[in-house]
Amino acid sequence: MSKNTHVTIIGAGITGVTTAYALLDRGCSVTIIDRNRYAGMETSFANGGQLSACNAEVWNNFSTIMKGMKWMFRKDAPLLLNPSPSWHKYSWLAEFVGNIGNYRQNTIATTKLAIAARQDLFDMAAREKIQFDHEQRGILHVFPDQTTFKKAEAVNALLNEGGLERRAVTPQEIRTLEPALNEPYYGGFFTPSDSTGDIHKFTRGLADACVRRGATFLSDTEVQHITTVPGGVETRILPLGATTPEILKSDSVVICAGIASRRFAAMLGDRVNIYPVKGYSITIPLDDAASRQAAPWVSLLDEEAKIVTSRFGAGRLRVAGTAEYNGENHDIRADRIRPLVEWTRNLFPGVSTEGVIPWTGLRPMMPDMMPRVEPGKRAGVFYNTGHGHLGWTLSAATAQMIADRIMPGVTPVRPTFSIAATQQKAA
Ligand SMILES: Cc1cc2nc3c(=O)[nH]c(=O)nc-3n(C[C@H](O)[C@H](O)[C@H](O)COP(=O)(O)OP(=O)(O)OC[C@H]3O[C@@H](n4cnc5c(N)ncnc54)[C@H](O)[C@@H]3O)c2cc1C
Repeated sequence: MSKNTHVTIIGAGITGVTTAYALLDRGCSVTIIDRNRYAGMETSFANGGQLSACNAEVWNNFSTIMKGMKWMFRKDAPLLLNPSPSWHKYSWLAEFVGNIGNYRQNTIATTKLAIAARQDLFDMAAREKIQFDHEQRGILHVFPDQTTFKKAEAVNALLNEGGLERRAVTPQEIRTLEPALNEPYYGGFFTPSDSTGDIHKFTRGLADACVRRGATFLSDTEVQHITTVPGGVETRILPLGATTPEILKSDSVVICAGIASRRFAAMLGDRVNIYPVKGYSITIPLDDAASRQAAPWVSLLDEEAKIVTSRFGAGRLRVAGTAEYNGENHDIRADRIRPLVEWTRNLFPGVSTEGVIPWTGLRPMMPDMMPRVEPGKRAGVFYNTGHGHLGWTLSAATAQMIADRIMPGVTPVRPTFSIAATQQKAA
């Protein structure tokens, strides 16, 4: 493909926006389309915040299945399966079980990808001066008892094999690393190189940078249909308020549409079996000095509760978790939010939960838990989607991978300008 290749990107979540940026680096002309007014308004809005190579373990193992069955009828369980009949859900679950044999190789591969993603993401943020409440204080994974800790040692060996430096810590070290954490734990693992940040701020900031660099962002625009034609791709779009759809032509399309990617893939003759795995978060404003003092700074991952935390500057704490297999459902259920609030109150009683902001999002999850970063069957069609529980962590690496597939042999040219320099020039 020549330079100035025009690429349409479906979706302005973290995967779409990082893909756009990587393609701009390779000289492409880029159009990003999203049905929302702003970038990062769906699953990339209020997630757990962790850039966590330490959470690279794929879930395809018998222990996940056993826990899911045990918790099936407990409304506050970290993992919940709605048993009602659904072909998509059960065929996806069958494929999930079929991938138990790939657990080891996929965990190691995900770890490598997560480590590779870090520098690209940090570089993008530095180049474009994106403020996203980035905290580089490591992630502390805590375990309540010897049984869970012993299991974690085996997982740790795989993460180490993938190149991650992650060390076991004693209860005393846990208290030293995060003095706000008073609960007695059996032990933990600490990953100093992992970090946290606000995915929405980053996605918005990078989308703005893409526009500054010449990309077109069609916001408030619904993608209705995509089809391949000789020499390219046609995307049928309906801008908000319009009554007649428009056709947008481009050389290629990249599907980065989160849980909607499955439907677009089917239109293009591909199977991308994404299931929406629902999760919840609460954002706690730390408005008073006592709450700020009592809230943790080091990011936590509580193995038993399956809850993660991220501190966004002095003023906010994010607490996220739960996995629910319940189709495409955006309802915020009080009985799923309550465990997050109670967990926070139990562990950090000094934090006021009066102003909690609840949120839910749907993880675009593949049955093998590996993102789809590949061309489709038809010429001009590409996928960078299905990042499941780790889209924030992996997206910067998969964006480079897909951009290399679309523009093979083209060396990325990264901008050396900064926002400050651009503004000075404009003045
Ligand atoms: C509770 C929770 C906690 C999480 N915690 C973490 C974490 O700590 N670390 C981590 O790495 N990951 C985490 N994740 C996962 C991560 O948030 C996701 O993997 C990631 O946000 C997915 O990004 P995406 O770009 O694929 O999808 P999205 O962000 O959903 O973007 C898809 C975009 O496509 C657009 N779109 C879809 N259909 C159309 C259409 N027809 N027309 C126009 N536009 C369309 C949507 O509007 C949307 O903006 C968490 C997820 C959840 C739910």
